[in-house]
Amino acid sequence: MPAFTYWPTFPFEGDLRVKRLLEPVPIEPPRHGDNPSECRACSAPDQAYIWVSDRWRVRALDRPTGLPAVLILESRSHLDLGDLPNMLAAELGVMTVRLERAIRSLDGVARVHVNRWGDGAAHLHVWFLARPYGRLQLQGTFLALWDDILPPIPEDRWRENLALVAAWLAEFGGRPLAEPPRINWTAPTTLATRERDDALEPAAAAEENDDVVVPEPAEGNGDAPDDVTENPKDEPGRQG
Ligand SMILES: [Zn+2]
Repeated sequence: MPAFTYWPTFPFEGDLRVKRLLEPVPIEPPRHGDNPSECRACSAPDQAYIWVSDRWRVRALDRPTGLPAVLILESRSHLDLGDLPNMLAAELGVMTVRLERAIRSLDGVARVHVNRWGDGAAHLHVWFLARPYGRLQLQGTFLALWDDILPPIPEDRWRENLALVAAWLAEFGGRPLAEPPRINWTAPTTLATRERDDALEPAAAAEENDDVVVPEPAEGNGDAPDDVTENPKDEPGRQG
């Protein structure tokens, strides 16, 4: 077995066997987006990203994973790394440094790994993976594997991290699109429940002082009147 299987950062133990190396193919299959008209990055709306500018966009994965942040920097134009004209190539350097600083500024992040593989998709995309502070076992080569192995971080923290990075980038231009996490209310309030709220004023007033404790969710029992425990006046501000 190669020496790295004995590194403290190697995520696996037990009996391992190296796979047989297949013969090289004479012609490689196309990558996603080799045909630009089918490129998902080109057709994705800005709303799929956490921050956008005229020439660059930054997106997250569609759900939390094991690391505090995993972000992808993309050019807006359908280009691969080696195709970038000088201006975009220079901007890639600036964007890489800026995004590294933004992610490293998050609580609990020690280091940011920057990877460009380019084997799967033709549209330039550079990966930024946040290595948690103190987790020396996650140093180096295997961080991307650990991201899949570790339990996902809480969704609220994930959303907060994305919003912080987007706000940091927007200090230098562009538009932040990631929103901070919503307050975990039990259900959306409607005008109808609001009216019931007023009818039950004493109970509702008692709840109003309780800003911290989130009421027990009425899970699927169809008891709509339980919704009066909400405090909807605070919600719009947090949603932005
Ligand atoms: Zn593209």
